[in-house]
Amino acid sequence: MCWHIASKVIAAGAGICGGRFSLCRPLSFREAAKRKGIYDFMRFDELDLHGSLLRAVTEMGFEEMTPIQAQAIPVVLSGKDIIGQAQTGTGKTAAFGLPVLQNIDPKKKTLQAVILCPTRELAIQVSEEMHKFAKFLHGIKIVPIYGGQEIVRQIKALKAGTQIVIGTPGRVMDHMRRKTVKFDDVKIVALDEADEMLNMGFREDIETILRDVPDKRQTLLFSATMPQPIMEIARTYQHDATHIRVVKKELTVPKIEQYYYEVRPKAKLDALTRLLDMYAPKLSLIFCNTKRQVDELVAALKARGYFAEGLHGDLKQQQRDRVMNSFRNGKTDILVATDVAARGIDVDDVEAVFNYDVPQDDEYYVHRIGRTGRAGRTGRAFTLVVGREVYKLRDIMRYCRTKIKLQPVPSLGDVMSVKAEKILDQVQEVIENEDLSRMKELVEGRVNEAEYTTIEMAAAFLKIAMGEGVDSEELKREYEEFGDTGAEEGMVRLFINLGKKNNIRPGDILGAIAGETGMPGKLIGSIDMFDKYTFVEVPREYAAEVLEGMKNVKIRGKAVNIEPANKR
Ligand code: ADP
Ligand code: MG
Repeated sequence: MCWHIASKVIAAGAGICGGRFSLCRPLSFREAAKRKGIYDFMRFDELDLHGSLLRAVTEMGFEEMTPIQAQAIPVVLSGKDIIGQAQTGTGKTAAFGLPVLQNIDPKKKTLQAVILCPTRELAIQVSEEMHKFAKFLHGIKIVPIYGGQEIVRQIKALKAGTQIVIGTPGRVMDHMRRKTVKFDDVKIVALDEADEMLNMGFREDIETILRDVPDKRQTLLFSATMPQPIMEIARTYQHDATHIRVVKKELTVPKIEQYYYEVRPKAKLDALTRLLDMYAPKLSLIFCNTKRQVDELVAALKARGYFAEGLHGDLKQQQRDRVMNSFRNGKTDILVATDVAARGIDVDDVEAVFNYDVPQDDEYYVHRIGRTGRAGRTGRAFTLVVGREVYKLRDIMRYCRTKIKLQPVPSLGDVMSVKAEKILDQVQEVIENEDLSRMKELVEGRVNEAEYTTIEMAAAFLKIAMGEGVDSEELKREYEEFGDTGAEEGMVRLFINLGKKNNIRPGDILGAIAGETGMPGKLIGSIDMFDKYTFVEVPREYAAEVLEGMKNVKIRGKAVNIEPANKR
């Protein structure tokens, strides 16, 4: 991995020069440069790191430090608290992971460091990275603990002399209550992605944990953003923390409605065609990351009856011109392209840009979506996101300081409703503006001699006008599957057998669903909690998955029973 972002660093550690004794001794040139935020060339071997940590880092292919590492590691090694603010993918794990490992006493077999992460995926990821750093250290045991994994196994691991725990706040709390973790010897606590943990409702848990860890400890707080609640936590639970901030150059994003959709790899094509059908953009530009993907997607779209053409570097100039012309004059309404091929494309009426693949570079995103919304027209940008790509997207949002809203993929029912709306709008226009006397006679004649009403006749017309798909099995299933659960439109209300009396809070339910299923926590609807049970609403598309995923889950040690709710 190369760190070309280093040159984009414009702000660096305001607080870093503020140490009490820093003014008492003259600074070397290098040190002065460092304090000004010029860190581009700082290598790991310039740090006072254990040889075995250095060896591991070298083996992993790290040479230079990333800006956040160069600024954070020396401060953390000196024993100070820090607030580290940097985007995803900037190497924060090593920024706290290496100094944490350096501070562990391998001879002592008690818990010495606690690292809190928002999700089990992140806990596992951090744990894997820490294991790599610790490869040449002996006698250090690192254990990830998170919901969904058998607690007995975790308890065993915790008893067997674990010194570093990496866990989600909920699960760590769970162990605290069971007294299966003891914080007496903990000397360092790191909060990774603190803003995300707060978003997920973990604030109380985090505070409980911080209160329980001995006060004479070092607290490291990492967060991409610094909203008020994070600053409050810092003020309350840190001592004289050094604030280190690495921000990239800003980019302006034109005013375009931006949405993203979390999908499985196999569902990408379906999601794309649903969106195309739903929004029916006049001209669409779809971006893929590779030439091969462009070709595959064009073939798949053509097979489904869309007028799509591909554009990539392998095409001859003549072919390119042909494709571009047919896109400009609307013969082709969908153009699928790679970033390079799309360079310089300048078409005014592009109503929607689709990122079939999340762009590999933040700047590409801006270039891509800038192709729509030209000359005051409305523009929309849609991004399909698979699995961990969501982190890349988050990075893009921060980098571009733009909001991309998560939306559920439209259901077939949604697409149908939109289609029907459009036809009915046309109908209204005809009623208002055209002479219908001859047509009325024909309809009247038919209705008078038949058994049906004019409403039925209109409905049949609508069905014919909407064409295929109206009666599909999939659509019927969508409508019937969960029946009426008393939920808001588009949602399914689920009953869970746990409530306030079980010491459960809405955040636990949210955390469990987000952690155990593929459904993003943000899509959860209302959570109504009663003493002994809870109702939670989830989007219809995810209901089956949530029911399946929550089957054998425990929340706060209690088995979950979950089923579609009855009508109110
Ligand atoms: P963050 O937590 O800031 O999102 P990570 O710690 O997950 O970032 O690091 C992102 C990726 O960069 C990881 O694959 C990590 O191994 C790699 N990485 C971290 N620091 C360096 C470095 N100094 N040089 C090269 N690669 C690095
Ligand atoms: Mg991280």
